[in-house]
Amino acid sequence: MASPPSIDASAELLQELVDANHILHHQGIVDAFGHVSVRHDRDAARFLMARNMAPARVQPSDILEYAVDSGEALTPDPPRLYLERFIHSEIYKARPDVMAVAHNHSPAVLPFCIARGALLKPVCHMAGFLGGENHDGPALFEIRDHAGPASDLLIRSRELGAALARTLGPARVVLMRGHGCTVVAESLRVAVFRAVYTEVNARLLLQALPLGEVEFLTAGEADATRVTNEGQVARPWALWREQAQRSLQATEAK
Ligand code: MN
Repeated sequence: MASPPSIDASAELLQELVDANHILHHQGIVDAFGHVSVRHDRDAARFLMARNMAPARVQPSDILEYAVDSGEALTPDPPRLYLERFIHSEIYKARPDVMAVAHNHSPAVLPFCIARGALLKPVCHMAGFLGGENHDGPALFEIRDHAGPASDLLIRSRELGAALARTLGPARVVLMRGHGCTVVAESLRVAVFRAVYTEVNARLLLQALPLGEVEFLTAGEADATRVTNEGQVARPWALWREQAQRSLQATEAK
């Protein structure tokens, strides 16, 4: 299906966003829930994201334009939207450097959003982006500080989105207590890469902790590995895209 004519972003960007949805699903970072967005390539005041649906099912015709200012879809009669779209809009508003946002509940990250004092710092070279000079590792967002003791933990308003963006600060990942995480980057491919390796690093750390004292990367190692790896994101992107496509085709053939 063709994309709606109201979207004037490049066809390449639309397809990349569709691919990002499928990759995050195939890599086990999102399931029926979670979402990924990209800033519009012709207008920094807009971003692109699917309507309310499971990422694996997203097609170009499901992508909508949203206003950074309001977090609302720029279409007269919008379909159902993600409740937590304000995660995306408020981060784009607070961080002009951010071009892509991925929100998920990936399973190995959750313990670090639950156990008090647990720090998700980098332990493997693929996840150097979790640390670095002047970078203490992902902060933990406590929604009770903003929504009281009986919320559904969702970022369902601009105000909560703005509070989350403040906790994120200049970082690349923010953990959300009892909920999941949100990953940002200067490109969609890097955002997907970071979402995948945030999960990998969390899993490795959980596996290493029972074995002995954990050695984290130094700040210098974190910065150096990040620069090396993120110059090579085309390689995993091509692989993950192909794997996701094959998997989806196999599902459709059944
Ligand atoms: Mn969520």
